[in-house]
Amino acid sequence: MNTYARQPVAFARGQGVWLWDEAGKKYLDALAGIAVNTLGHNHPRLVRALSEQIARVIHTSNLFRIPVQEAAADRVAAITGLDEVFFCNSGLEANECALKVARKYGHDRGVAEPAIIVMEKAFHGRSLATLSATGSRKVQAGFEPLVQGFVRVPLNDLEAVRQVAAHNRNVVAVFIEPIQGEGGINVARLEYLRGLKEICDRHEWLFMSDEVQCGLGRTGKWFVYQHAGFLPDVVPLAKGLGSGVPVGACVTGGRAKGVFKPGNHGSTFGGNPLAMTAVVTTIDTMRDENLLASALKVGDAIREGLAAGLAGLSGVTEVRGRGLMLGLELNRPCGEIVARALDAGLVLNVTADNVVRLLPALIMSESEGREVVERLVPLVREFLAQPAKAA
Ligand code: PLP
Repeated sequence: MNTYARQPVAFARGQGVWLWDEAGKKYLDALAGIAVNTLGHNHPRLVRALSEQIARVIHTSNLFRIPVQEAAADRVAAITGLDEVFFCNSGLEANECALKVARKYGHDRGVAEPAIIVMEKAFHGRSLATLSATGSRKVQAGFEPLVQGFVRVPLNDLEAVRQVAAHNRNVVAVFIEPIQGEGGINVARLEYLRGLKEICDRHEWLFMSDEVQCGLGRTGKWFVYQHAGFLPDVVPLAKGLGSGVPVGACVTGGRAKGVFKPGNHGSTFGGNPLAMTAVVTTIDTMRDENLLASALKVGDAIREGLAAGLAGLSGVTEVRGRGLMLGLELNRPCGEIVARALDAGLVLNVTADNVVRLLPALIMSESEGREVVERLVPLVREFLAQPAKAA
């Protein structure tokens, strides 16, 4: 179907943070498949583990025990600090699972029409329920009627949540991306997250942290809520969890533990031996190669490099983000920077019309990070030097 506005480039192979197109041109990859290729391209340990698993068995079924799924679940429980894991295949599926957990939690407590607080500018996926939770009319338009049961508030506004709490007895959960990715790298303040958690505790709501894009080590800790210093009840994951092998997970603990019983949820592919090998190998390699600390260090270097290289340039609104999840906001739509960057051998993305987004692999070195800055700064300068187009 005609669902993507694609760039006219096809990548034929990759190595680390580098990609080569079909003509042999080399690119520095600062996008990692939109926060997916945690270990970069062609990581020898992942290639070996996946190859060996493919030769043994790719898929069995959740009708049977899957030991590598148990091993993956133990690792996910250990890094999240939570108790239960449901494996699926994508971010929207992880979020669907979270939304079902919230509704079931409500019904178990006698709330017949449970409502979930969601944020403006959030992105949670493109299934009917997750696009209804998403705070973007562009994503929703044409797919009405939307799924009911969401109450939307602005990010970083605790008073708005208190108002909802005072007037809506049906609320059972808050669902938040602690750093909004598609919405433009909008960072929830840590005091805000802590305040939100307090409100959840007071009303016995679930705190559900969509870490599909921002989680898995990218910000220097395994998860953004760990920067705020508390445990949520539900954490949907995907993207970087399998370093490129499609896999998602909905992780529960706290008040959400034990909400699902046999028969409440399921997936044919979810948690199969191939995907689970990717999860185990990704997490073990991240630990062994100390990639969390590295993500923070390299991310800081890129952010500081961009801030210094673009200092005083009118048209640059802000450089923001944490670790290797960075946004450079300009004062005008800048989608054309994507093609200009490809010409210059740099892979990046523009989101929310005017935010250049960087989500490199966690194996990016400091010198490769500096090279991102060296390639991007002149592109932005050139772009801003031309007259702004009339809206
Ligand atoms: N949640 C967040 C925060 C995302 O960034 C995305 C995808 O960009 C999704 C959910 C949906 O993930 P998927 O595209 O794997 O369905």
